[in-house]
Amino acid sequence: MSFQKDQKVAIIGAGLAGMSLALALHKQSIPCTIYELRDSASHLTATGALMLCPNALKVLSEIGVYERIKNQGYMFEKLEYKDENYKITDEYYLGGEKLFGYKALRVYRDILLRETLGAITERGIQVQYGRKFSKVVKEDETGVEFAFEDGSTESATLLIGADGIHSKVRQYIHPNVGPIFSGMMAITSVVHVSDLRFPEPNYHLTTSIHSKYGAFVFAPQNSSGTEILVGTQMRMPEQDQEGWRRIRQNKDELKSMFQAHMNEWPDLVQSAMEHMNPDKLSIWPYYVVPKLDTWSSPGKRVIILGDAAHAIPPTAGQGASQAFEDVYSLSLLLSKLSDKVKLDDALDFWQCYRMARVDDVLALTRKLDVKRLPTEDKAKVPEEVVWLFEPKIEEKMLKWVAEQENQ
Ligand SMILES: Cc1cc2nc3c(=O)[nH]c(=O)nc-3n(C[C@H](O)[C@H](O)[C@H](O)COP(=O)(O)OP(=O)(O)OC[C@H]3O[C@@H](n4cnc5c(N)ncnc54)[C@H](O)[C@@H]3O)c2cc1C
Repeated sequence: MSFQKDQKVAIIGAGLAGMSLALALHKQSIPCTIYELRDSASHLTATGALMLCPNALKVLSEIGVYERIKNQGYMFEKLEYKDENYKITDEYYLGGEKLFGYKALRVYRDILLRETLGAITERGIQVQYGRKFSKVVKEDETGVEFAFEDGSTESATLLIGADGIHSKVRQYIHPNVGPIFSGMMAITSVVHVSDLRFPEPNYHLTTSIHSKYGAFVFAPQNSSGTEILVGTQMRMPEQDQEGWRRIRQNKDELKSMFQAHMNEWPDLVQSAMEHMNPDKLSIWPYYVVPKLDTWSSPGKRVIILGDAAHAIPPTAGQGASQAFEDVYSLSLLLSKLSDKVKLDDALDFWQCYRMARVDDVLALTRKLDVKRLPTEDKAKVPEEVVWLFEPKIEEKMLKWVAEQENQ
């Protein structure tokens, strides 16, 4: 099977995974349509910022998004871990121009969504709004017929679920799997840099200050570096939807959670706790998708990726980045399908490759979580993250394709 003009890919979800997939497929001349449940007005209403590491930025560069966002976020290279006396205990490189070709970029989610959608619109890729996927009606070797909540149906050669952590497409492949609460929650707000009491001039942000109460993070997130995300994470019992909504809305409760043990933190943290914007207080309960044994249906015409397949904890800042790797590697393989490079084999290879990468990221996440303990050993050299920031996706996909072609 190779993609002909009359064949197409249907993508469920116009989030970061769905839209980047559409751009990656378009680059390979594979036709696709995105179906998004929200309307076009609410599609881009997102809050907060994302950190993007070189592995994400390389993909965004390939699909024409990096150029559009690079001057709209905060570029930096490393996160410094400090103790209560502001002494550096460790540092972790999240990007590096010399080593990886890109610095890390912290950019507002709505900017990233807007610019990705801008690239989609420029290329004439169709996004159908107000279309809530409900179920797969039929799947066979020619493709998939699927239905929306309003009863309408569509068909495609491949159906790709990029519909996020609560994925409905995943239910077709794994009817009994849902997200699991990790027991941890982040609580964050925003502070202006001029309100912070720095211990010395030219103090390095981005930083994570550690005390017996855990880690408190400072992360600039606008291009001038004046607006700083501040926050910490804590254990939390699981809530139902209503419970999380209640916590989100109760700003007084959020404020007292955020300012817990304020007097025992270093003065810089105290200044952040005092001056943070209470209207910007928000929580992020960490839900994860349990490890799945497959990301495709037995018939291999329905696939999931992004958070639908592997929502992962945030410590390594790799959630969206791993979605970008999914879409880029998959689109490369789909572009090479032929009599010798078969769809079923390509999907098996893709899943193996991607699942191993996600496992490695999860292991790194656990390692970084341990770093939040004050007793953690020092010094992490940037070379240790080469495997993460330089995945060499193209090289690996094309090597496998060449092996198939030479068989
Ligand atoms: C607070 C927060 C901070 C984060 N920070 C970072 C970070 O710094 N770095 C990083 O790499 N990652 C970060 N992440 C993770 C990152 O946001 C996700 O990994 C990423 O957004 C996943 O993209 P996605 O497209 O798979 O899913 P989503 O972004 O959830 O998109 C899914 C899309 O599918 C649509 N949809 C859902 N159901 C249906 C349906 N039935 N029919 C049609 N459409 C549907 C939704 O409306 C949505 O548009 C963060 C996440 C959160 C919550």
